[in-house]
Amino acid sequence: TTPSIRQRLAKLNPRQQEAARYIDGPCLVLAGAGSGKTSVITTKIAYLIQECGMSARKIAAVTFTNKAAREMKERVGEMLQGREGYGLTVSTFHTLGLNIIRGELKTLGYKPGFSLFDPEDAKALLRDLMQKEADTDAEQINAVQGQISQWKNDLVLPGQAISHAADEDAQYAARVYEAYSRHLKAYNAVDFDDLILLPVVLLRDNPDALARWQRKIQYMLVDEYQDTNVSQYQLVKLLMAERATFTVVGDDDQSIYAWRGARPENLVTLGEDFPRLNVIKLEQNYRSTGTILRAANTLIGNNPHVYEKTLWSEMGQGDAIRVIVNRHEEAEAERVASEILTRRIKERAEWRDFAVLYRGNFQARLLELKLQHYQIPYKLSGGTSFFSRNEIKDAMAYLRLLINPGDDNAFLRIVNVPRREVGPGTLEKLANYATERQVSLFAACHEIGLEQVLPTRAVERLSRFTHFIDGVRRRMDQGDAIAAIRDMLREMDYEAWLFQNASAPTIAERRMANVWTLVDQLEKSMHRDDEDGDASEETDDVQSAISRLVLRDILEQQAEEDDSDRVQLLTMHASKGLEFPHVYLMGLEEELLPHRNAVEAGTIEEERRLAYVGITRARRTLTLTLARQRKAYGELLDCTPSRFLEELPPDDLEWEGRADKEDPEKKQARGKDAIAGLRSLLG
Ligand code: ATP
Ligand code: MG
Repeated sequence: TTPSIRQRLAKLNPRQQEAARYIDGPCLVLAGAGSGKTSVITTKIAYLIQECGMSARKIAAVTFTNKAAREMKERVGEMLQGREGYGLTVSTFHTLGLNIIRGELKTLGYKPGFSLFDPEDAKALLRDLMQKEADTDAEQINAVQGQISQWKNDLVLPGQAISHAADEDAQYAARVYEAYSRHLKAYNAVDFDDLILLPVVLLRDNPDALARWQRKIQYMLVDEYQDTNVSQYQLVKLLMAERATFTVVGDDDQSIYAWRGARPENLVTLGEDFPRLNVIKLEQNYRSTGTILRAANTLIGNNPHVYEKTLWSEMGQGDAIRVIVNRHEEAEAERVASEILTRRIKERAEWRDFAVLYRGNFQARLLELKLQHYQIPYKLSGGTSFFSRNEIKDAMAYLRLLINPGDDNAFLRIVNVPRREVGPGTLEKLANYATERQVSLFAACHEIGLEQVLPTRAVERLSRFTHFIDGVRRRMDQGDAIAAIRDMLREMDYEAWLFQNASAPTIAERRMANVWTLVDQLEKSMHRDDEDGDASEETDDVQSAISRLVLRDILEQQAEEDDSDRVQLLTMHASKGLEFPHVYLMGLEEELLPHRNAVEAGTIEEERRLAYVGITRARRTLTLTLARQRKAYGELLDCTPSRFLEELPPDDLEWEGRADKEDPEKKQARGKDAIAGLRSLLG
């Protein structure tokens, strides 16, 4: 039977218990990695429901990544019984924002069935707008997109940006920002940053809406608080207001999203905004061995600190930290893969006990090849996700166009997929016409005036397409929306198109299977709790379900949840909050970790925090690897070991492959070891 909440509380240390039971005012748990901050949040949710009798639907817990939200949800789920957790929100900030927008569409002035633009869509729109003024390149577009995103995260609205613009470039960006916002609104679309910005502006300016959401959410818990940006913090503050019924937990040493607008100083602001704030510090680490913890503490000791923290552990000293120097990047990947293979046997571990962390997704490519070579099952987080596959993008574009005919990006993506013989010339004339008439491309296809600018044949082809879509939409409205979508895919014979375009039939089959998976996923999310964490029962309309899918896409989550036994491959950024018995950190080289851009920009401290996050994911063993040479920009470059290696306690490190310190006998022994391990595995 599941332990009672009292038994659960009894397992926590006194400081954790205090944090979990404190409900009389605002509460901040400020503590280092692995000290049980997330455990406090999950236990507290159960405490609020089971001891304080609070309804689960009035509680919202938020964190930063889907993976973290999913884990948290799982941990809470284990503590709750029956319908106790019904209506509980455990989600990312962005999902919470999406839910608020969905509930307030009218107040916000949007029509039902709004589109969520992913960063690629947003970029396409920016390109159009910027190209109108002058020729622009990708770099300029990226810069403007980054600037707009920063403004949005800082709650700077389109009209205000100009007064924040310091130089000409920023003034230009401010003008584009205004046009961009107008166009988004005209398309009935929002972008990723709007998911936080719009709710904040709404709650700030509309007392009725504020009252509604304050009634709805009575207690909030925020994990990884150090990575909130200005607008996320405002969202929490507005929702909680004077009641100040919230618990936030964080670690300033793990702030790694400054580049995305995170404001670690929100920790200080919190104390100023809520003078009654109860600050609780935790000092015992329950995750890692003494050696791993000492390495983490020593490393982060090189950063200046607002709050001094000392972490200790009772897990024993454990193994030394190994540092493996490899000839080149391929040897590094080979080494990590073959080690996992042998270690799994030696340590009686499972695949899922291993995680390989790296600075950038590109580092995973070679590793993937090696893992495949040894037939080691692995799961790559981020990188090429399900949603970045072409067939999924096509299918998503159909879904988006179905719920919002004004979505021009979606229209352009699929008007000719499968082939409908609509040429680029036709599309250009259509676009000009639509711009002139200030209507969407889809709407333009229906207008009589189009016949003046396009030959009859072209108009016919376009209207055949729009009628087809309109027909599907009618069927969706009349009855079973999912059945209508399935019929649509069959009627237009998307499968045949895939077969025409794939190099092998098996590939086409797999692609089609992916599309059906997407539709299944959509169906599921309409009928039951959604993995994103929101368990509200209002998810039964297809429009919301599609918006949610688009959001997941942006958050780079795989469609199928896959908790099977696999080695985890992820960036250090994505690893936050997670833990694994055996961790490999790859690429401990200057220019990689710390990253070259950070070296140039002088943001080494953030890189050090990133390394700290990586190290503190490990429970039992930690292996650091680096290469002496690495290919970059088509050249083979010599690498310098990361400065962070020098900042670790030298006595706790066991080097291998360092030219001056190599012990040949040891090396040979290890080689035999690995071969023996392999043999026994292969039987
Ligand atoms: P991070 O900063 O990395 O997010 P955290 O502070 O959130 O870490 P948790 O993930 O909550 O830490 O806890 C780390 C590990 O310690 C988990 O395996 C958790 O189950 C365990 N743990 C937490 N508190 C206790 C406790 N009082 N007794 C035993 N184990 C605990
Ligand atoms: Mg945590």
